[in-house]
Amino acid sequence: MKIAKRVSSLTSSPTMAVMEEAARLKAEGKEIIDFGVGEPDFNTPDNIKQKGHEAIDKNFTRYTAAAGIKELREAVAAKYSKQYGVNYTPAEVAVSCGAKHTLFNLAFVLFDEGDEVLLPVPYWVTFPEQLKMVGAVPVEVETLESDDFILRASSLKRKITLRTRAIIVNTPCNPTGAVIPRDEIERIADLAVAHNLFVIFDECYERFVFDGNQHTSIAHFATKARHLSLIVNTASKTYAMTGWRTGYVVAPKEIVKVVADVQSHSANVASISQKAAVESIVGPQESVGVMIAEYERRRKFVVERLNAMKGLSCANPRGAFYAFPNVSAFLGKGKIKDSVEFSSLLLRQAGVAVVPGSAFGKEGYIRISFATSMTNLEKGLDRMDKALQKF
Ligand code: PMP
Repeated sequence: MKIAKRVSSLTSSPTMAVMEEAARLKAEGKEIIDFGVGEPDFNTPDNIKQKGHEAIDKNFTRYTAAAGIKELREAVAAKYSKQYGVNYTPAEVAVSCGAKHTLFNLAFVLFDEGDEVLLPVPYWVTFPEQLKMVGAVPVEVETLESDDFILRASSLKRKITLRTRAIIVNTPCNPTGAVIPRDEIERIADLAVAHNLFVIFDECYERFVFDGNQHTSIAHFATKARHLSLIVNTASKTYAMTGWRTGYVVAPKEIVKVVADVQSHSANVASISQKAAVESIVGPQESVGVMIAEYERRRKFVVERLNAMKGLSCANPRGAFYAFPNVSAFLGKGKIKDSVEFSSLLLRQAGVAVVPGSAFGKEGYIRISFATSMTNLEKGLDRMDKALQKF
């Protein structure tokens, strides 16, 4: 069957492939511990669900404005204005079907065929695929385990050419948990200004930062880089709302206008989800604190257990809810060639699903999500420990 060139090189999400294989084994009756999924295991807080119910009961069930309801755009603008002491207006906010849709819209709106976009490695699997879908060229920029996987402005600078149009920044990072320090964010902002590059700033995990570390948004440097900053965020992670599909961008109003026009001819967020998302931002925040404390507890447990396993080392993720252990000591010898074979063997021999590092552009690692219960973590890591002794 002939399909368009722009999607012919598209690979289905590798994280999905692991989930599918795990689902197949589950269907065969095997008990699989799933460390592959990238979504909170918590339920959406009750106050937020309540607003969803209310929206239905009050028949708030019709089309909304393409960029989102006024109330939600106002809530997002107020959140950013308050957090960063900058006056953002609702005209600078567009709401989309999750940050994934937001990011797709940005790629669609900003890039022409052959435009280069700097993409830090390891990256969240969706970034390069979205860029390729619109004909843009992802240009990989290495980050190193020895440098806590922090994206450096100096590494970005080396990859800038006349065709470079934008930089993707994801902090806290999926999959490494890296949190880029404030001075480096400022250097990245300065670099963007000097070369007139957009910064697509994905801060979906902004609230999940541990050990007293601080998340720095590029919004801190709005006085110099506001015209180039496209800040992407979502209700998915902070409020355990992945299925509600509500994400947004805070960006110059000219870009927001085009995103809205695109959405008016494609899709925008369900009216009910938008009402719930308003509550997530303006309502009580206690539930978020509870979730963060639990993630922090799990992270400590996971990292300690992983580092106690022979042959494996794991840096302490400063944010998000993933551990990214180095498994290179197991590779290249005997039957395990790479991180895909490692993950597949772990799934078959221990019934533990993880995502191979190559899915994130980084061989020699695996990603373990600790967005799962302590019971699952204990059981899965026990099994993994036993299996690794035979690898
Ligand atoms: N950005 C990053 C870095 C992510 O990890 C995810 C979810 N895995 C998203 C964006 C998309 O989130 P959503 O579409 O659910 O808002």
